[in-house]
Amino acid sequence: MKLAMYGWRRNRNIVIKTRQDLSHVQRAIVKIGSSLLTDADTGIRMDMVEHVVEQVFALQKAGVQVCIVSSGAVAIGRVHLGWLGKTLSVHEKQAAAAVGQSWLMESYGKAFAKHDIQVAQMLLTKDDLRHRRRYLNASNTSETLFSAGVVPIVNENDTVVVEEIKFGDNDNLGALVAMMVNADLFVMVTDVDGLYDANPNEQQDAKRCSVIHHLDDSVMAMAGGSDSEFGTGGMLSKLTAVEIATRGGVAAAIVNGQQRGVLTDLFVGNDVGTLFVCGEDRHNRHQHWIADVLHVAGQLHVDAGAAQVIIHKGASLLPIGMTDVQGNFDKGECVEVVADGVVIARGLCNYNSDDLRRVQGLSSQDMAKTLGYKDFTSVIHRDNLVLKGKR
Ligand code: GLU
Repeated sequence: MKLAMYGWRRNRNIVIKTRQDLSHVQRAIVKIGSSLLTDADTGIRMDMVEHVVEQVFALQKAGVQVCIVSSGAVAIGRVHLGWLGKTLSVHEKQAAAAVGQSWLMESYGKAFAKHDIQVAQMLLTKDDLRHRRRYLNASNTSETLFSAGVVPIVNENDTVVVEEIKFGDNDNLGALVAMMVNADLFVMVTDVDGLYDANPNEQQDAKRCSVIHHLDDSVMAMAGGSDSEFGTGGMLSKLTAVEIATRGGVAAAIVNGQQRGVLTDLFVGNDVGTLFVCGEDRHNRHQHWIADVLHVAGQLHVDAGAAQVIIHKGASLLPIGMTDVQGNFDKGECVEVVADGVVIARGLCNYNSDDLRRVQGLSSQDMAKTLGYKDFTSVIHRDNLVLKGKR
């Protein structure tokens, strides 16, 4: 009996600590950026698609299940609609995505067919991952595709997204899909060799970082303003995606897709790109849900005392520490906790925004008197509170 047929997850027990461990990867997400796949004359770069597909085929033969997250729909659609160089409205971008997506799938379909591999299109929005049933459906569909030897090709469902349900960029989408399918590795294939310790276009002695163990502020600072022309994901959005993946126990890598055989090299442990291994301080599923998936419905401002105990003692947020409530939200929604203008945490709120405005600054006893009920002593219980930048 194949467990995957019943939508059960395999046990993931691969822990990637070194480059050599990459040869044990069983399941990977490979995210391909627009700048690599598209050009202004032909739309899609078929040579690039074929290069990626050949490597994915080799990985599959070696026993690695691969899911591709591919950008390029908007950029390809622009070319086919003759909309190059024009500033597109939201609806025009969505229309371009609708045109480009079918070209994208046709290209992957043709390239994989040469190796007798089927592909499947999966278009997702962030809303799909927030709703438990849709999340489970998407996750079970990918399990079934993997067990049938099909390569899922994921993109954001651009034609229906509005700001609230947007992943924002495909780096973010890739990291969340990597968590959803319990991948061992999340690879971002782009047009730079990896993360550099300084901007290689400006400083000749800039060095590529080979393995990063801690994604601390000094590493984040290396990403400064390196956006490429196509697509939305510069180095900063890549590192944000790395942070989501590695905190969730999925190692990540950034490689240059123009380098011949870079993916197959990476998976045998060769020194290409930048590898990010997972730290010890990991989010569990519930924390990942709060930190990375849920929509933020409002903000609770807190005083310095509350901030101290939340950050250093892992305490719950009590009404007495609150100084202001922003937004309108229901109980159970996700809110940010802000101290001195800086977001320090996110959590699930036990009360709605109207009730919280009435009790901010009160003790828990007075909260009960004022509201006439007290379902919880805390405004956000410590178990539902995730610190920001817990790296
Ligand atoms: N979904 C967009 C597209 O296919 C790409 C977004 C991104 O590159 O981050 O064009």
